Amino acid sequence: MKNDRTALVTGANKGIGLHIARLLAAEGLTVLVGSRDPGRGERAAAEIGGRARPLTLDVTDPRSVARAAESVGHLDVLVNNAGISPALGPPTETSVEELRLTYETNVFGVLAVTNAFLPALRRSPRPRIVNVSSGTASLHWSTHPNPQFPPGSARSAAYRSSKAALNALTVFYGLTLADEGFKVNALAPGRRATDLIGTPMPDAGDPAEAAEGAVRLALLPDDGPTGAFFSWDGSAVPW
Ligand code: NDP
Repeated sequence: MKNDRTALVTGANKGIGLHIARLLAAEGLTVLVGSRDPGRGERAAAEIGGRARPLTLDVTDPRSVARAAESVGHLDVLVNNAGISPALGPPTETSVEELRLTYETNVFGVLAVTNAFLPALRRSPRPRIVNVSSGTASLHWSTHPNPQFPPGSARSAAYRSSKAALNALTVFYGLTLADEGFKVNALAPGRRATDLIGTPMPDAGDPAEAAEGAVRLALLPDDGPTGAFFSWDGSAVPW
């Protein structure tokens, strides 16, 4: 049963997404390796091997999203992983353009991709959606002591508010699709050494570890949670 399943991971040509694609392939799923650059998608799919296939997909480009969705008849798992963090300042030092740019990928892109692939997901007996969010989006953790970062900073306001909006969408998709057997959850992958920020993060952990959390949510059983927010280690994250 599990081996007939197909997963799409957006932004899977590198970073956490590549690790998620690799782990899902190791679980026996056919993995569609989403990449906005066809060449890098092909190389990543070849590196993963097995039944991994590249899928050209720019989540901010409606034509790209429509073309990709038309080419996929059946989907069991959608991992909305593609994300950007181009502005690092607090809200007082963030422009509307920076906010809009960040939301285009992290919020509007997720909604566009999810809605475009819904017909394919509805053909699955066990549809799962994993939204790769961030612990820094937790409004509770931003103002209370927490295991991830010192509270009280409002840096990266564009990025963090975009992921908070993504968290809200996760709840609303969870509610909307619950009767159809969907499980829709958000993941806080923890601080990972990737290209996301562009500057080295000395305390960042291995992205492969974060991918395990995504795979757990991608393969949830029928009695699993929906509309919830989990850390990579499976513990609940407060909104
Ligand atoms: P990377 O920058 O390494 O990877 C981001 C991926 O998203 C790349 O494949 C990138 O493609 C892709 N992407 C960006 N924009 C688009 C787009 N418009 N269409 C399609 N793909 C796109 O970062 P991470 O691996 O760290 O990030 C993965 C996810 O994890 C993100 O959602 C991020 O917010 C989240 N996250 C990461 C944390 C960390 O510490 N690293 C912490 C918390 C959350 P390309 O190569 O073409 O740019």
